Amino acid sequence: MVRYYCPYCNPKYQFQKQSSKGTLICGLCGEDLVKKPFIRLNQIIALVAAASLLLPLIYTFIFLIKNQINPPNKNYQANKTLMIIIKKTIS
Ligand SMILES: [Zn+2]
Repeated sequence: MVRYYCPYCNPKYQFQKQSSKGTLICGLCGEDLVKKPFIRLNQIIALVAAASLLLPLIYTFIFLIKNQINPPNKNYQANKTLMIIIKKTIS
């Protein structure tokens, strides 16, 4: 289903009118109505952009909460040994 809307008027007070040519026009300003597709491409792009920003944040939050429940002691030891290995390779 394709919906029509006027880009200039408030969507609350819009009503459709048929012009003498047979096309749908805005009842308030008389401007041609614009087709409103079900899903706009802009909405998809905005969703992808928002997801790419929010997903890493959500992931870090989950990771932080998990770490607070079970503090990973093994990870610190692993990091220490890794640092030693790095130091040895540098010097
Ligand atoms: Zn209008």
